[in-house]
Order: sequence, then structure tokens, then C-alpha cells
Amino acid sequence: MIQKNKYLILTYLLFAFTAIGFVSCSSDDSSTTDDSVIEDEDDTTSDDTNDDTTDEDTNTVSVNASYFYTTDGSVTITTVPCTLSDGTETDCYQIVTTSLPGDHEMGPWCPGNIEDDATEGGIWLEGGEVYDVDGAFVENMATFYDDPNWLMYDANGDIYITDTQEDCENAANPNVGAEYENFCVECLPSYITDLSQTWTIPITPVIQESAVLFTTGGGGPGGPGTTTAPSTRGVALNGIEFSAPAPVDNILGAYTLAPFDDAGGHINVHQGYHYHAATGFSTKVAQDDGHAALIGYALDGFGIYELADSSGVDATDLDELRGHSDDTRGYHYHVDAAGNNNFIDGLKGAYVN
Ligand SMILES: [Zn+2]
Ligand SMILES: [Zn+2]
Repeated sequence: MIQKNKYLILTYLLFAFTAIGFVSCSSDDSSTTDDSVIEDEDDTTSDDTNDDTTDEDTNTVSVNASYFYTTDGSVTITTVPCTLSDGTETDCYQIVTTSLPGDHEMGPWCPGNIEDDATEGGIWLEGGEVYDVDGAFVENMATFYDDPNWLMYDANGDIYITDTQEDCENAANPNVGAEYENFCVECLPSYITDLSQTWTIPITPVIQESAVLFTTGGGGPGGPGTTTAPSTRGVALNGIEFSAPAPVDNILGAYTLAPFDDAGGHINVHQGYHYHAATGFSTKVAQDDGHAALIGYALDGFGIYELADSSGVDATDLDELRGHSDDTRGYHYHVDAAGNNNFIDGLKGAYVN
């Protein structure tokens, strides 16, 4: 479905660009597709305040607030004073979002019947691969996971799906009860009525003395043997969180499935909509030199880019954080492959605690 969707989006864009000469902008949500690809602007390289450092690793490029998708009011950005994890007092962007994306559709997540095709469901991430959660995937789960306890549909082929906010909250609990075994879990956008998320990131990144690695165990902040690194990896240009890896072992261990939509996101009532994989749906800033597109910023203010460049070649020479440096973008990260349920592996720069 992802490939199909990309094709549809391309088709739509072609149509939209053709049609734009004839019709004025409608207030329809879909007209915002045009705005989701922003022309690259000249990056503002920060003033070099570290005159003693010429290593390209310390080349920093400031966050460009104009790259964020703010046209529908789902994201607002202000400048606030802040103190970073290394004690640096500086200015930060405070990014407040409705935690629902304004630049692309959400869902679907769970298909309704084992006869449904991929347009009726989202995706699942397993072993580095992205799988369509279509009816056949649900029908095949006992084989896929080599465990006969998987049976997520009734005699009519109808798939058991959480269908109330209470169910979605209960089934997302780490200690989910047996009554939710063999349920496909989905929380709907309509459950998110009065939620906002605030992200505070340094406008100009400050390299830390030593980088912090994220916990790889997934789930929330902290955990055995982890650093003090925050749980959140970064913020997409539509204000949506790049989250820690989804705790798929816990989800599957409870015999539940909590699919992601084709954009790599799903909803819980505490975070709202959030991403676990970058599949190319959110606002991006193409790069003039063919480098992978900018899709967001890490919590340290360094840019997060797609994995593949405009020729489809994956970034190489990445450090253990999934970052590297070049003259145009300074230090920056490239996201992990979508099937890895991961974005980046740590923060090189200081962040707001
Ligand atoms: Zn999640
Ligand atoms: Zn790069």
C-alpha cells in the first residue's frame, strides 16, 4: 500500500499543480498537500562562537523555524530562554502542537476483515521489514509468529478491534488484561480532543562533551542501564513526535497488535499521534544538492534527514548516533530504515531536560 500511496500522492501532486492555475485554494484539507514540500532555502549557518574549533564535526546549522508546517495552526513556534543539559543558557524554540498532523491523513490501522486488502489497514514493523497489515496478514499471524494462540478474527473473518476509547486505553496498558488478547488495537483521532504537546529545542545546537545514546529497549524514558537521554528522539516538521521504538515485544507478548498507519504513526491518548517509523509522508525539505530531505529536528536541534538521497542511495559513514557532517548541513542525523522501528540512536548535542 505504501508504494501505491506514493503513486497516488504523485498523481495527486501532478493534478494539483495542473489544477492550481484554474482554481483558487480551497479550504479543503487536501489542498495543503501542495505546501507539504517546501522549497529549500539557504540554511542559516550559526555564527561561529567557537573560534578555536575548526573541525567540521562542530559545524552547526541552526534550526530553521520556517520549515515547520504551521499553515493550519496545528503547530505554533515561539522563542524562549532555556537551559540545556550541559548548563548552557541559550534561546530555544518552543514548539506547541495539537499532536495531530496537519499535513497528511491518519489511519487506517486495523483492517476489518481477513478479506480486506492493504488499503484497509496500516503497517507492521518486524525484523527490519515493513509489512502491510491487510486481512491476509491478520489471518496468517499464527504462522507468521509460529504460535497457534494467534487468532484475531471470528468465524466470519471479522477482526476483533478495540472500538471505544476505554478499550484503546486499556489495551495500550503494559499490563493489558487477557480480555484484550487477540485484539487489534487502534486509538482514533476523535479521541484526541484537548491534547497539546510542547517541544523545546535549542535554536543553535551545542555539542556535548560526550554524546548520549538512547535506550534501545523501546518504550518510555529510562530503563535498566540507560543514560539520562530523553525518550523522545525528535520532532517532525509537522510537529509530530519521533518516538522511542514501539515496545513491540510487549504488544505481541499480550497477543495484541497495535499497527501503525502507512505514515508510520499511531495514537495513544497520552501522546496523541506519534511516529515510530519514517515512511516519507510528513513535510520534508528537499535539498538542492540531492542529499536526503530534511524531515525534522532532534531534541538537540540538529537536523534529521531521510535515509536515502534523491537517487535512492542510503546515507553512509554514519556514527553510532546515526549522524555525520557535511559543509552544507553541518552535523546531522539520518533516520533508520522504517522496518527497524527506530529513528536515531542518540544525541550529539545538549538538550532541554
Ligand atoms: Zn506508539
Ligand atoms: Zn547526510
